[in-house]
Amino acid sequence: MSVRLLVASRTDVGRVRPGNEDALLVTDDARLVAVADGMGGHRAGEVASATAIAALLAGVERGDPIDDAITAANDAVVTRAASDLDLRGMGTTLTTGLVDGSTLRIGHVGDSRAYLLRDGELRQLTTDHSVVAELIAAGELTEDEALVDPRRAMITRALGIDATVEVDVLEVALLPGDRLLLCSDGLTTMVRDDAIAAVLATEEDPQRAADGLVDAANAAGGADNVTVVVADVVDVVDPADTTTAAVEPSDPLAATGPVLFEDTDEVPAVSAEEDPPPRRRWWQRRKRP
Ligand code: MG
Repeated sequence: MSVRLLVASRTDVGRVRPGNEDALLVTDDARLVAVADGMGGHRAGEVASATAIAALLAGVERGDPIDDAITAANDAVVTRAASDLDLRGMGTTLTTGLVDGSTLRIGHVGDSRAYLLRDGELRQLTTDHSVVAELIAAGELTEDEALVDPRRAMITRALGIDATVEVDVLEVALLPGDRLLLCSDGLTTMVRDDAIAAVLATEEDPQRAADGLVDAANAAGGADNVTVVVADVVDVVDPADTTTAAVEPSDPLAATGPVLFEDTDEVPAVSAEEDPPPRRRWWQRRKRP
């Protein structure tokens, strides 16, 4: 069996940040979707997310498995950062889904998320690579406490930071009627899962669902850039018909705020003096053996 995706998307700067450093990808055939949340001073976060998305697409187009394509995206961000002083220290999350037949392969680094709505129930497919996710897993923090914890923006894995990156890969057997959501943390830090589920379950049209999620994040304060990709899984009746109606992603916006890195070695701290308000985002680098 094969399935195809009907995909809608929206990215928005939110109500606080000066620019949008998120990026998204929906290919014309809607087999590949992705969300990236860039971080870095000046315009570096925007460059990081766009660089990662472009390298991911190139990797998938040349036939790379999803983890290799994400590794290539990491290489691309590392290389780009090394080429320009203004970009040094930039990084990005990347969460992507690739449809092959009726199988969805998800590749994931960072705290952007993939969810699956099936039979009215919303399941988070990815595990955040974040400080609060680790504290929740350790039983030291509840989900509710995590929503307001000052460490909620600290991520433990990102592309562009090290020459190597650990990529989570998972597979989902898609069923017609499933609805997939990829999103940046600008949604999940502002809107609880039950409210996300309510929008996804009630807005039948995927674009209206995407718009409803972004509007909910902004209504809750819009403290961060917010990006959503909503993909409905439909049966392929004619096996020759694998075309879809992917909605053109809107262009990520420009200007960025500076980033404060809390770090122990090479990554330089970026000046927080230039473009207020400063972004409160830190890396905690994964120590290697
Ligand atoms: Mg974000």
